[in-house]
Amino acid sequence: MNLILMGLPGAGKGTQAEKIVEKYNIPHISTGDMFRLAIKEGTELGKEAKSFMDKGDLVPDAVTIGIVRERLSKPDCQDGFLLDGFPRTIAQAEALESLLNDMEESLDYVLHIDVPKDQLIERLTGRRVCPTCGATYHVIFNPPKEEGKCDHDGSELIQREDDQPDTVKKRLEVNVEQTKPLLDFYREKGYVVSFKGDRDINEVFQDIDQKLGNLSQ
Ligand code: AMP
Repeated sequence: MNLILMGLPGAGKGTQAEKIVEKYNIPHISTGDMFRLAIKEGTELGKEAKSFMDKGDLVPDAVTIGIVRERLSKPDCQDGFLLDGFPRTIAQAEALESLLNDMEESLDYVLHIDVPKDQLIERLTGRRVCPTCGATYHVIFNPPKEEGKCDHDGSELIQREDDQPDTVKKRLEVNVEQTKPLLDFYREKGYVVSFKGDRDINEVFQDIDQKLGNLSQ
């Protein structure tokens, strides 16, 4: 099951990704998470990515494609994967296509979670993440059981640097510009399935699950 999850920042990709990978047992490959981990570990990749991420800019394609190529070659991707936050440019989409060709694989779906733009700012600035396990919460829409603490491991939740209001606006602008051509690219190829994302998390997942269930039959 080879999937791409798309949607503007704050559309609920992280939350749906958690549910999809749990149910279908495929790895969740989030380029954003990979960059954040590299920064935390202080690697060369992290140093390079940080300068772009802090400004809300995209990390250069060559760097991003390189880390995805390496990740997709790992054994746990043999039965499929869920890409989240990649591809973000047409060059990345074309690189992915040739990577998959080399692996004698192809995409199944591009799952697109659609949320009106005005709701996204509210969602993003209220987002909190667990620095230990990466779980995401929202102070209003998806609060943890105990305020400020991760349900899974009790870590103190944090607000990502790029979820601060100014960076959020910049990230949305960059993403709106880049998402449309990408969606058009995949629509033309017939891969895109859109889900209305301004609903209860479980309702959105039910629809996604139904679509994916057809694949495994
Ligand atoms: P995300 O967690 O997906 O919102 O990503 C956070 C940041 O990581 C983005 O604002 C970019 O700076 C960088 N990033 C993540 N994925 C990509 C990608 N596919 N291409 C370029 N930059 C990326």
